[in-house]
Amino acid sequence: MAETFEFKAEIQQLLHILIHSLYTEQEIFLRELISNASDALHRLQFEMLTMHDAFDPDAELAIWITADPGAGTLTVRDSGVGMTRDELVTNLGTIAQSGATAFLKALQEQGDTATNIIGQFGVGFYSVFMVAERVQVTSRSFRPEAAAARWTCDGSPHFTVEEAEMDRRGTEIVITLKEEAREFANEWRLRQIVHRHSDFIAFPIYVGQPAEDEAPQPANQQVALWRKAPREVDEEAYRNFYRQITLDAGDPLLHVHVSSEAPIDLHAILYVPGRRDRGPLAPREYGLRLYSRKVLIQERAPDLLPEYLRFVEGVVDSEDLPLNVSRETVQASAPVRKIRNNLVRRLLREMETLATEQPDAYRTFWEQFGGFLKEGMAIAPDDHEALIGLLRFRSSQTGPEGWTSLAGYVERMKEGQDKVYYLFGEDLTSIAHSPHLDPFKASGTEVLYLTEPIDSFMMMSLRQFDGHDVQNIADAAVDAPEVDTAAGEALPDDLFNPLLKRFNEVLGEQVVAVREARRLTESPARLVPPDGAPGADNLERVRKLVEEDFQLSKRVMEINRRHPLIRSLALTLQADPMDLLLPDMITQLYENALLVEGIHPNPAEMVSRIQAIMAAAARPHPRDKGEEAPHSAAPE
Ligand code: ADP
Ligand code: MG
Repeated sequence: MAETFEFKAEIQQLLHILIHSLYTEQEIFLRELISNASDALHRLQFEMLTMHDAFDPDAELAIWITADPGAGTLTVRDSGVGMTRDELVTNLGTIAQSGATAFLKALQEQGDTATNIIGQFGVGFYSVFMVAERVQVTSRSFRPEAAAARWTCDGSPHFTVEEAEMDRRGTEIVITLKEEAREFANEWRLRQIVHRHSDFIAFPIYVGQPAEDEAPQPANQQVALWRKAPREVDEEAYRNFYRQITLDAGDPLLHVHVSSEAPIDLHAILYVPGRRDRGPLAPREYGLRLYSRKVLIQERAPDLLPEYLRFVEGVVDSEDLPLNVSRETVQASAPVRKIRNNLVRRLLREMETLATEQPDAYRTFWEQFGGFLKEGMAIAPDDHEALIGLLRFRSSQTGPEGWTSLAGYVERMKEGQDKVYYLFGEDLTSIAHSPHLDPFKASGTEVLYLTEPIDSFMMMSLRQFDGHDVQNIADAAVDAPEVDTAAGEALPDDLFNPLLKRFNEVLGEQVVAVREARRLTESPARLVPPDGAPGADNLERVRKLVEEDFQLSKRVMEINRRHPLIRSLALTLQADPMDLLLPDMITQLYENALLVEGIHPNPAEMVSRIQAIMAAAARPHPRDKGEEAPHSAAPE
C-alpha cells in the first residue's frame, strides 16, 4: 500500500528552488548520487567486517549507470547497504531539514556557486531535482529480514513510499529527466562526468551495458590516488583530488604525499588548503579520511594529526590498522600513534621546504595558518624543534608588511648582542610607540613585535633560540642596550624629586611605586612589572586571557627626567604646588602608559579627563600670556 508523506517546509522550498532555477553546474547531481552510492558501499564493507549473514553476500560491490535516450531516463544503481522502508522515509524525507535551511542560506549568500557544494549540507540527494521531473528510488537493505521498498517523488511537496519487488541488495534510482536535461541520457556524456568528478571512487562505476562478448569496463580509474607512487601522480591530479575531497574550488597551498610500506604501511595525501577561511560553507568538523584495507573506517578522523594541525585536509590509508577497529578505538591504537608521528614529521618538513624554496607561497601560508603553528608551539612540546624554524614575526625592522624568521633575526643581530628581544602590544601601531623601545631604537637593536593573543602562550615556551635567550623588553630586568644618557638636559634633583613625590601621592595604590627611568629617551614614562620577575609580563598576559576575573598586578611607573613634558610638569609644580590640573595630568600620563602597554581596562573612561585637560589648554592661560604675546600679535 502506497503511503503519502509531505516534505517539511524547508525541503519543499529547497525542491522548489532546485526545480525552477537554471543552474550552470547541473551535472554535479551525478557526483552526488555516486557519492551516496559509494558511501552505501563503504558502509556495507564496514558492516560485513562483523556481520556474516548480510543479504545477497556475493553481489559485486559496484555502481551501475544506464541511460535510455528514447525514454529520457537515467538509472543509477549500487549494491551497497540499501534502505528499509522506514529508512527511505527518514533519509530521503525528513532528516535533511536543518541541512536544507543552511543550504538555502548559502544559496542566498553565494548564488549559483553554492550548488557545487550542496553535498556538504547533507542534502546532496536533492540535487537530482535540478535535472529530474520524477525520481523513483527502489531499495533493498542488507539486513536479511528487511523487505524492498520504493520511494517516489515528482518534485511536488509530497513523496510516496510503497512495497516493491527487488531480488538484489542495494539501491536503484530511476530518474525521468526534464525536457531540457535530456543531455544526461547520453552515455558518452555520463562517462565524461564520471571521469571528471568521480574518478577516484573506490568502486567500479559501469556506464551503459557492455557488449555481449566483452567484460565490463569501469568508467573510473578507481585506483586511489594515494596508493599510487608519488612520481606517477602529476600536479593536476593532486589539484583535482583536493577539489574532490574538500569541495573547495581553489587550489591547495601545499600537498604532501606519504607512501611507505615499512616500518609501517602508510599511504596518505595531505593538503594545506588555499586559505583558512573557506567561507560559511567550509566543513565545521576537522579530521582526515581514514581507510584501512580500502575500507573507509572514519570519514573524519581527528586523531591522526595533533589538534593544532586541524586545518590540514586529506586521506590516510594503512593496512596496519587492526581490521576490527571500531571508530572509538582508533585513537588508542599504537599504529595510529605511529602514523600520526610520521604524518606530523612529514608535514612540518614540507612546510620547511616550502619556506626555503617558495618564500612567497610560504608567506601566504604563514598569513593564513601561522596562528595554528603558534598554537602548536604552545601546546605540542614534541614538535617544538620542528616548529620553531617555521615561525615568522613582525619586528621593528620588518615594517608592517614584512616577516622575519628567528634565524633571520639572529643574522641581523648587532655586534655584542646575544639576546633575542621581543615585545607584546595591542597592534603594530601602538606597539611601535611603546616606551620600552626607546633604548632599542636609540641603538638600532631589532625587537620582535607580538600582537596576537596566542602570542603570549607561544612565548611561554619560546625561551631560547639557537643558544640565545629570548627576552621580553617590558621586563624590568631585561639587559637593554646601553643608551647615551648624556643626551638631553636632565632635570636637577631639586625639581625632579618633588615631582616624583607628587607622582607617588597622586597615583598612590594604583602603582607599586614611581621612580626614575634609566633607559627612556623619547618617552616621558613607562610601566614595568615589579623587579626581579622575568617573564612576569608574559605570564600575566596569559592569565588575563584564561582567567575570567584576573587582576593585573600593579606596575612600577618610571618617569624620564630628560623629557620636556616631565620638565613642564616639574615647573608647574614648582610655580604652584596646588595647581588643580596637575593630578589629572599625572593620572593621564599613567593611563597613557597603560594604553600603549595594551592593558588599559577601559580606555573610554579617559575621555572626560582628557577633555578637562584640553579645556584648560584651550583657554588662554594666565601663566602663558606674557610669553605668547610677542609671537602672536606683533604688528608689522
Ligand atoms: P548525505 O549523503 O550528506 O547524508 P544526501 O542527501 O546525499 O546526504 O543523502 C541522504 C541520505 O540518504 C544518506 O545519508 C543515506 O542515508 C541515504 N542514501 C542516499 N542514497 C543512498 C544509497 N544509494 N544507498 C543507501 N542510502 C542512501
Ligand atoms: Mg550525499
